[in-house]
Amino acid sequence: MKNTPVPVDDAARRRARDAALRKRNSDGVTRVARTRPCRRCDALTFVGLDDDVCAVAVSVDRYPLDAAGEVQALLSHRRTYALHWYPGRGRYEIERRDALQIAAHPPMSVANVDVVVEHVCGSFALPTARTRIERAGTRKPLTDEPPF
Ligand SMILES: [Zn+2]
Repeated sequence: MKNTPVPVDDAARRRARDAALRKRNSDGVTRVARTRPCRRCDALTFVGLDDDVCAVAVSVDRYPLDAAGEVQALLSHRRTYALHWYPGRGRYEIERRDALQIAAHPPMSVANVDVVVEHVCGSFALPTARTRIERAGTRKPLTDEPPF
């Protein structure tokens, strides 16, 4: 009997993705990242599962890092993550950053994606950057017109 690959079409892929979005762990954490105050230090963080499969619930600081900030985070043995904003879906998702992603997509290089660091209570501040996430109504477009 010949081993044939199972065809995967877009609909099947979409169904698997939707199923992953509905999963939640015992703390109620889902693939959709939500803001939540840290239970120990009360800092505002994003909490979510970090992948569609074999996911781990992670808590990340909400401010975006610049390249120097990511280097400092990695040198201090803290993981970095991509915080994706999907405007069409109206949700945030957290994704682990591996060596390939770090090399290919440095902080501030992709629209609607911020690089953030895992939350560690009481840790020192890292260099931050301006967010690349543009939500409707949060930022006015820049014009050449003076404000008066
Ligand atoms: Zn904390």
